[in-house]
Amino acid sequence: MSKNVLILPGDGIGPEIVAQAVRVLDHVNDAFSLNLTHESALVGGSAYDETGSPLPQETLDKAKAADAILLGAVGGPKWDGLDMSVRPEKGLLGLRSNLELFANYRPAILYPQLAEASSLKPEIVAGLDILIVRELTGGIYFGQPRGIRTLENGERQGYNTYVYSESEIRRIAHSAFEAARQRGKRVCSIDKSNVLEVTVLWKEIMEEVAKEYPDVELSHMLVDNAAMQLVKAPKQFDVMVTGNMFGDILSDAAAMLTGSIGMLPSASLNAKGQGMYEPCHGSAPDIAGQGVANPLATILSVAMMLRYSLNEKPAADAIEAAVSNVLDQGLRTGDIASEGCTTVGTQAMGDAVLAALSA
Ligand code: NAD
Repeated sequence: MSKNVLILPGDGIGPEIVAQAVRVLDHVNDAFSLNLTHESALVGGSAYDETGSPLPQETLDKAKAADAILLGAVGGPKWDGLDMSVRPEKGLLGLRSNLELFANYRPAILYPQLAEASSLKPEIVAGLDILIVRELTGGIYFGQPRGIRTLENGERQGYNTYVYSESEIRRIAHSAFEAARQRGKRVCSIDKSNVLEVTVLWKEIMEEVAKEYPDVELSHMLVDNAAMQLVKAPKQFDVMVTGNMFGDILSDAAAMLTGSIGMLPSASLNAKGQGMYEPCHGSAPDIAGQGVANPLATILSVAMMLRYSLNEKPAADAIEAAVSNVLDQGLRTGDIASEGCTTVGTQAMGDAVLAALSA
């Protein structure tokens, strides 16, 4: 039976970079006989312009029916003055909540060819390949009660609730262990169990779930130490799993280790393995329409989609190898340009990846 991918180009550079990613998807679909079909729909500002909603019902219906979704990016100054309820970002958030995409996968990969782009010493980061699995729909960002109240003495007090139920921890644990099975078979769970009861439970459930994955090694680390280790010796990690807030912070820090946002893919998955795949960067309105955007994060998002939602690992490996090959040839878009390399545009970078896949 064929599997269907929903393509959501979005706004700004979204359509330009997604066009290259779709060429790559079409190529591997033929080369590996994947039997995939795809269709497109509107999301974000472009959807608002056309339909009055950043997430039209038709897009949501197609997203629910798809096996996987490839998204470019949404947003831009054109829509910044809109009411919050119809801002382009609402399209993204609506997809995440409607599809219950609770597991966010953020790899931080630094191709050795780009080690100079990092603010850390090349020997510390060259060849870095970490996957941060962040719980996306629970924890302190969603816990109730929350708010700002006035105490009896007239002083105001802000408060939030950090809460995770056993089932929420269990499902993100499974996501992390399953992901580790596809990689280096090591999971490091990040907590603050010396202070927070929520994460005492988190740690306990991680241990329990680990028993179902005897082939994967589980370790634990306190979040403050994890932050230090990420900048001191980041290559020690394979998969890091953590809650919403710690994951928010650690995944941005890990992304910056690589120094090149145009290279980083991401994924958000639900319990059925259905996922939305997108580059970590935004719609880059400053360079939209110029044909200079780096399409590699979106192309690498296709590789993640094949690996994590479509179960087509050889095709995913081939795309990642092709990207590495193109970097070996010295081809760079403007954002990762360096001395001695050839600067190319979006289309030429797509051409080069296709040529490397065919070689
Ligand atoms: P951004 O990631 O769009 O851009 C930051 C900088 O990185 C810019 O200088 C941009 O030119 C550059 N850049 C980003 N992607 C690039 C690529 N592929 N190739 C080359 N250069 C690239 O972040 P921003 O400027 O803060 O936000 C712009 C818009 O994107 C805003 O409307 C924001 O809300 C939106 N945004 C969307 C998403 C998303 O769709 N997931 C994420 C972040 C920001």
